[in-house]
Amino acid sequence: MSDPRPPRILISDELDPAAIEVFRRAGFEPEVKTGMKEDELCQAIRGVDALVVRSATKVTRRVLEAADALRVVGRAGIGVDNVDLEAATERGVVVMNTPRGNATTTAELAIALLLALARHIPRADRLVRSGKWKAKGLVGTEVFGKTLGVIGLGRIGKLVAERGRGIGMKVVAYDPYLAGEGMASPMAGVELLELDALLTRADFLSVHVPLNDSTKNLLSWEQFARVKPGARLIQAARGGVVDEEAVLDALTTGKLAGAAFDVLVEEPPSKDHPLLARDDVIVTPHLGASSEEAQLRVALDIAEQIANFLKNGVAENAVNAPTLPAEAMGEMGPYLLLAEKLGSYLAQRTQGQIRKVELTVGGEIARHAEHLKLAFLVGVLRHSHDKSVNFVNAPALARERGILVLESREERPDFRGGELSVRATEKAGGKAHTVAGTVFGREPRITAVDGLRLDLVPKGVLLVTRHKDQPGVLGQIGSILGRYQINIQRLELAPASDAGAAAHGYLTLSPEPGPPVLEALRSIPAIEELQLLRL
Ligand code: NAD
Repeated sequence: MSDPRPPRILISDELDPAAIEVFRRAGFEPEVKTGMKEDELCQAIRGVDALVVRSATKVTRRVLEAADALRVVGRAGIGVDNVDLEAATERGVVVMNTPRGNATTTAELAIALLLALARHIPRADRLVRSGKWKAKGLVGTEVFGKTLGVIGLGRIGKLVAERGRGIGMKVVAYDPYLAGEGMASPMAGVELLELDALLTRADFLSVHVPLNDSTKNLLSWEQFARVKPGARLIQAARGGVVDEEAVLDALTTGKLAGAAFDVLVEEPPSKDHPLLARDDVIVTPHLGASSEEAQLRVALDIAEQIANFLKNGVAENAVNAPTLPAEAMGEMGPYLLLAEKLGSYLAQRTQGQIRKVELTVGGEIARHAEHLKLAFLVGVLRHSHDKSVNFVNAPALARERGILVLESREERPDFRGGELSVRATEKAGGKAHTVAGTVFGREPRITAVDGLRLDLVPKGVLLVTRHKDQPGVLGQIGSILGRYQINIQRLELAPASDAGAAAHGYLTLSPEPGPPVLEALRSIPAIEELQLLRL
């Protein structure tokens, strides 16, 4: 039965008014109510079909649970950190973003910061305003002929590299996820290097990686110890990919001659943040995407995408759901989450270096094998990208990364629900990993790893061990974790399959153990392999 009620659209953050025009032209009359607290939003969301946000509104699990008619959340911009994606997927709510809008604007800001650092522009301006015209210490450096090291050669990194070449710089880059033989560069005039080599060569370092578990503190003490003395750093990616304390130290010792931050770990920073006290540091308030053009572009994009979704059911740039009909989405939500978790598991087990995946979908869900494949790829690619990986761009990104995807399905109408199993082969050496899972109730579960039957809830921090199958190992692990006040919430053990083989352990831990704990665990003689996964 079709719903006679016209869909309700709520815009809960400041959005360029041009978006409202787009909605009206499509026959919708959106409601605008900004600045709501969670409680107010929980009230206001009732009966709403589409919610449009930027970054201020927090779309929490509570909000999603209060939403009784919500079908789509649209984020004007890229980052969807303010939306509880897992809760949205569980409830079959599509979350979409606008990944195209910001790249040029952010790349231009990175270049602006680079030139501002080279010529001390903010400090010069401050001195003039304080009455000093010919101030000492403002002699700058030319960028022409200097080397720009781009870390992360994705959408923004590529534009920065291009612009760097445009102002006469030599450009080198580091991005371990790009496909290609050896170190073949995907861009003319840009030499691809290992990180260490880039650090020793670059006069300017510009970081454009996503923030995820593999990039947290990507640049820290160890890396700054290797940089060319007098190098300058531009950080316009996400707070946390650069270790701010290590930057402070590198500035103090003169390893770095300057640093510019558009993003910080703590935003806004406290007044006494040590970076703000330094003359050789520039800080801008997360301005990367703040240009008139970018704001307009993302507002128009999200209005068009949502109107298209409400009218035609097309979920363009969905970060959590492909274009499934609403009824199917309700049933498939937990399976899509499972597929994504299996992707995330394998990406972490292989450090993102997957050459080939073979996906087998069995049971009723095999009808939606194509969507499960997309969800799986999203899980894999979010290891090396951010939340802007979606069901639309995942196949192209996977191809770009040289990942071959094979799929087979066993449609068994007699088997309600279904099972998903995946075999992933690593790029170097061809080592294979397999993982399988299903959904119990509405909860995704991993049911087998490398052929061993298990029952794992893929949620939270998972410590994976390969250890000698002998008495006392678990006791040693438990006592180290206990010493550091880390709780084992769940434990699954698989004994060695035959004599001499390793036993496997899967421990869900809370809170997450830090490096000293892992080091202590690694020192247990019976432990052969240990890895921490975040699922
Ligand atoms: P993208 O996904 O297109 O590119 C990221 C690139 O980083 C990919 O090519 C990936 O392979 C690479 N990468 C991942 N892990 C890496 C690692 N460990 N070492 C080296 N490279 C690695 O993302 P994008 O759209 O170019 O965005 C880049 C960053 O800029 C993101 O962190 C994004 O959140 C941020 N951003 C900031 C602003 C701002 O306001 N300052 C605005 C937009 C985007």
